[in-house]
Amino acid sequence: MSLILGIESSCDDTAAAVVRMGGSSEVLSNVVYGQNALHADFGGVVPEIAARAHAEKLDVAVAAALAEAQVALNECDAIAVTAGPGLIGGVMAGVMCAKGLSVASGIPLVGVNHLAGHALTPVLTDGLIFPYLMLLVSGGHCQFLIAHSPTKFTRLGGTIDDAPGEAFDKVARLLGLPQPGGPSVEACAKGGEARIPLPRPLMDRADCNMSFSGLKTAVLRARDHAMAAAGGLKRQDQADLCASFQASVVDVLVGKSKRAIDAYLAHAPERPALAVAGGVAANGPIRADLKALCAERGLKFTAPPLALCTDNAAMIAHAGGLLFAGGQRDGLDLAARPRWPLDQTQAPLIGSGKKGAKA
Ligand code: AMP
Ligand code: MG
Repeated sequence: MSLILGIESSCDDTAAAVVRMGGSSEVLSNVVYGQNALHADFGGVVPEIAARAHAEKLDVAVAAALAEAQVALNECDAIAVTAGPGLIGGVMAGVMCAKGLSVASGIPLVGVNHLAGHALTPVLTDGLIFPYLMLLVSGGHCQFLIAHSPTKFTRLGGTIDDAPGEAFDKVARLLGLPQPGGPSVEACAKGGEARIPLPRPLMDRADCNMSFSGLKTAVLRARDHAMAAAGGLKRQDQADLCASFQASVVDVLVGKSKRAIDAYLAHAPERPALAVAGGVAANGPIRADLKALCAERGLKFTAPPLALCTDNAAMIAHAGGLLFAGGQRDGLDLAARPRWPLDQTQAPLIGSGKKGAKA
C-alpha cells in the first residue's frame, strides 16, 4: 500500500488529493478549487487568469488535501502531478509546485498525463480490469480509447475540431445562458422540445471520428432565425434550441459509440466494457443513452461519480500511483507539455493545429 499526493492544474480547477493505493484504492481527500467565477465575465477560460489563480491556490489546495486526509507530507510515497496536456501556464504552476515539494521533502515525483488520469478513473472507482473501452468527453477533449494498461492506449477516433464540452459552452453563450454551459444547457433543455432540425455531423462516415464545430454554427443560424421571426429570443425557443442541440450531441456520441464498440469487441470480445469520463459525462441524457446502448449490446457500463468525472486530483494521484508502482520516477527535468497525445502511434486528427495533436 502506498500514499500518493496528486496535484492537478491543467485547466480551470486547482486541485489536490491524497489516494491510498492498494487492492481497492481509496480516495482519502479530494480538494477542488474551481475558477468559474473568475472566468464568468469572459465567456470562457482565460489562460493567464487561470495560471495566476493556480499559482495562488496550489499550496492552499495541497495543505487542505493533506489535512483532510490526515496525512503528513513526509508520509506520502510519491507526488503525482499533471504534466500535460493543458493550458501551459496552469500546467507549469502545478509542475513547479510538485517539484518544489519533491525537492524539499525528498519524495519521488511522478509526471502524469491528464487524459490518462481520466481514462484510468474507472479502475479507481469500479475496479475495472484492462482492457476496456473508454469514451473521454470533456471541455477540451473527445476520444474513444482502448485502455490496455496504465501506459498503453489505442485511440479509435475522436473529434476533428471542437470538444462537446466546448460546444455546450459556446451554445450557452449564443443563447445567453451562464457558464459553464453544460449544466445550464442541460437544465434549460428540460423545458424544451427537440423540434429544431440540426445536423448530426460525420454520422454518415463509418469511422469513430466526430465534429461539433458545425453543429454550434447551425445553432447560431437557428437562433437568428427564431429571433427574426419573434423579434427576440423567446424563452420557449431558447429551451427548444437547447433540447435540439443536446439531442444532436447525444445522437452523435451514441452513434459513434456503436462503431467504437464494434471495433473494440473485435479486439477484446472477452471484456465487454465501456466507461465514460470527463465533464460532459455528467450530462443526464448522454449518460442514460450510453447506459441503454451498453445494456442492449451486453457491455458493462461504468460512469464515475460526478466529482471524479470532472477535473480533479484524485484521478492524478491514482494514475500516478499506478505509474509509480510500475517504476516511473521523474526528475527536475520533468517538462510541462501543452500537447501530449495518449496514443502517439496515431496520426494527429484533422484540425489539430500546426503544433500537432492536442490529444
Ligand atoms: P472538464 O473539461 O472535464 O473539466 O469538464 C468541463 C466541461 O464539461 C465544460 O465544458 C462543461 O460545460 C461540461 N459539462 C459539465 N457538466 C455538463 C453537463 N451536465 N452536460 C454537458 N456538459 C457538461
Ligand atoms: Mg475543468
